[in-house]
Amino acid sequence: AKAEGRNRYHFFTSTLSHRLREQRRIAANLRESLRNDEFELLFQPQIDVKTGKFASCEALLRWCPKDKTKAVTPDVFIPIAERGELIGDLGDWVLKKACQQAQAWKEKGIAIRIDINVSGKELEKSSYFDSLTAYRAEYALSPEDIGLELTENVLIKSDSTILDGLKAQRDLGVEISIDDFGTGYSSLSYLKHFPVTHLKIDRSFLDGAPENDFDSALMEAIVNVGHKLNLKIVVEGVETESQSDYCKSLNVEFVQGYLFSRPISADAIETLYVEQSK
Ligand code: C2E
Ligand code: CA
Ligand code: CA
Ligand code: CA
Repeated sequence: AKAEGRNRYHFFTSTLSHRLREQRRIAANLRESLRNDEFELLFQPQIDVKTGKFASCEALLRWCPKDKTKAVTPDVFIPIAERGELIGDLGDWVLKKACQQAQAWKEKGIAIRIDINVSGKELEKSSYFDSLTAYRAEYALSPEDIGLELTENVLIKSDSTILDGLKAQRDLGVEISIDDFGTGYSSLSYLKHFPVTHLKIDRSFLDGAPENDFDSALMEAIVNVGHKLNLKIVVEGVETESQSDYCKSLNVEFVQGYLFSRPISADAIETLYVEQSK
């Protein structure tokens, strides 16, 4: 048993160090890609249930290194970027790119808000809101043009500087969504203190609903609480007609998911937008 234990330990350490080496390699590749501008923003429409149209979309980052075999998904590289110091530069790239795109759309008369995902690690650098303000000025944007998506855990952990920064943005008219709502912190009381406008219900709850009683009870509870607090509800990960119908029956304001559109290029968003305006 002892020998077996030792083997297992050996196995554990070797896979752990393998994983660490892998992460360091990815971090180095990310850094190089930042120098070479090898990223892209895709956009996924958020559909207004009442009209069936979209006036906002979520920006989702894609890594496109020249050597495509190096690419991994954001679920993998974002946490790695957060652990290193890369997330600041990566987040700045996203912010700038989103602002450039928002300006390009505005100039064409296309009214689409872009919501960007903001990591807690980015907000810890107090300069984040300064950058947001500076880019807004540089690209002639209004506060309504760029929304922010933050996870619950970011809000819970955040200090008063971040809270004050968010409040100032909210006062200007910035839309602020709580992302992956329901998967993080277990108390809702924090909602009282945060200047939030939207709750995005995590798709894990939608998976089981409406058949699964527990999931549908949670969905309904979240929608009720959100509406009582005057928040708009977004359900993400809507893949089927029956899920869409279920969301409609709950009176949520927005739906987002593969049923309506995958994350697509800015050009493809424009085409969709023009199509729905006809
Ligand atoms: P998220 O913010 O919760 O984004 C939703 C994810 O669900 C996206 O994955 C999206 O492509 C995917 N999705 C959308 N509709 C459906 C659907 O109907 N079914 C299924 N199965 N999935 C759907 P993606 O693009 O791979 O992003 C993963 C995560 O990476 C994001 O989760 C977010 O946490 C992070 N991320 C992506 N872009 C950025 C970014 O620019 N900055 C930061 N900090 N994080 C980002
Ligand atoms: Ca998000
Ligand atoms: Ca989410
Ligand atoms: Ca997520």
